[in-house]
Amino acid sequence: MRFLALLGMTSIKSFYIMVNYKNLGLVNTREMFARAVNGGYAIPAFNFNNMEQLQAIIMAAVETKSPVILQISKGARNYANQTLLRFMAEGAVAYAKELGCEHPEIVLHLDHGDSFELCKNCIEMGFSSVMIDGSALPYDENAALTRKVVDYAHQHDVTVEGELGVLAGVEDEVSAEVSHYTKPEEVVDFVTKTGVDSLAISIGTSHGAYKFTPEQCTVDPKTGRLLPPPLAFDVLEAVEKELPGFPIVLHGSSSVPQEDVDTINKYGGALKAAVGIPEEQLRKAAKSAVCKINIDSDSRLAMTAAIRKTLAEKPAEFDPRKYLGPARDHMKELYMHKIINVLGSNNKLAE
Ligand SMILES: [Zn+2]
Repeated sequence: MRFLALLGMTSIKSFYIMVNYKNLGLVNTREMFARAVNGGYAIPAFNFNNMEQLQAIIMAAVETKSPVILQISKGARNYANQTLLRFMAEGAVAYAKELGCEHPEIVLHLDHGDSFELCKNCIEMGFSSVMIDGSALPYDENAALTRKVVDYAHQHDVTVEGELGVLAGVEDEVSAEVSHYTKPEEVVDFVTKTGVDSLAISIGTSHGAYKFTPEQCTVDPKTGRLLPPPLAFDVLEAVEKELPGFPIVLHGSSSVPQEDVDTINKYGGALKAAVGIPEEQLRKAAKSAVCKINIDSDSRLAMTAAIRKTLAEKPAEFDPRKYLGPARDHMKELYMHKIINVLGSNNKLAE
């Protein structure tokens, strides 16, 4: 049943069609996470803000036969409008089918939801999964807020991601100066109290393209490039021991490909000492109970590198399709690489 609803809340005002995600052809994360945990791979969660990025994600997912999570952050909602983005996600399902995927598994996920009202609003708009990020709150307040969102979401069969521990770095409007690793002794209590379907933990990943300061890194003698400190796999293992088989999520898991950083700098950019998480470590995490890996910055770098290169090589070009097209191609390559070579979610559709 679809009907128009007018919401008059203070922070969220939108005039939209209230709809359940199932009517849009989207899926929640429950089954895909269970398969990913058992199968030793992770589902890609790619953020999107614009059409070219969404096209690249869907083309890559269809070509590799991978389930995929489309994430919408606060910055994306402010930039592109959340109503428009949600209709784009509906279009993405139809587009995947048009590209030949009979049963696409596409999740529309709210990244870093910061209030019950926002999560409720997104669920009513057709999101199939939401994150409630209460990680900056005291433990009991985080648990109570998360419980409230879970109670509402589960009435609509929408899955919920909670977070314990704090990631460093800057991602749109989410930022923290220092990270606090997740305390393994808290996870069972949190999951039991809240009923969340998955848990984002902090083990040393970080938001943005500048994940580590040069002082935190060592220099690779072979290449002269900065090597980041390793992820805290001991914390991940302790969490897994507490919650066997429970879906774990890693945020801030871009690898900051040096080729793209070099291309950007070669064609007039000024990225200094951008450092990401080595793909080898993410591969290792994907084989564990980590079943969702968030990647945003890498796609931004790929897009910017391709646009800078095209504009520098073809200075007379002024048709946006002529530089956004190569950017889309380059992002698609990146997404396919992540799916096949890092996460291992290729050929994992249920049917
Ligand atoms: Zn995040």
